[in-house]
Amino acid sequence: MLYSCFPLYIIRYKPNHKQMKPPICSICDKKFDLEKDNGGLVYFRLTPEQEKFNERFKQPGFTGHPQGAHWFCGEHYEKAKKLEHLTDHEALTLLNKASD
Ligand SMILES: [Zn+2]
Repeated sequence: MLYSCFPLYIIRYKPNHKQMKPPICSICDKKFDLEKDNGGLVYFRLTPEQEKFNERFKQPGFTGHPQGAHWFCGEHYEKAKKLEHLTDHEALTLLNKASD
């Protein structure tokens, strides 16, 4: 198969990108362009632990990626959005099963 010959490589990011994770789909690991590919960030229901973790973002100057928030490419965004009432773990388990 042609597809199996694609080289696998690790994409490196600029170290000063400290706000959010770069947009990489949580389902297919595709790095996508937010403007061209219509993907987006989905905020899933938070577990009490995640809510506690995210409290720190209320402090001024704190940067990072909030828990429960995941990027999805244009292909998976709509599906993921429909599951935003679930926790990220539940939703990702379902989505990964569906894409097998
Ligand atoms: Zn995807």
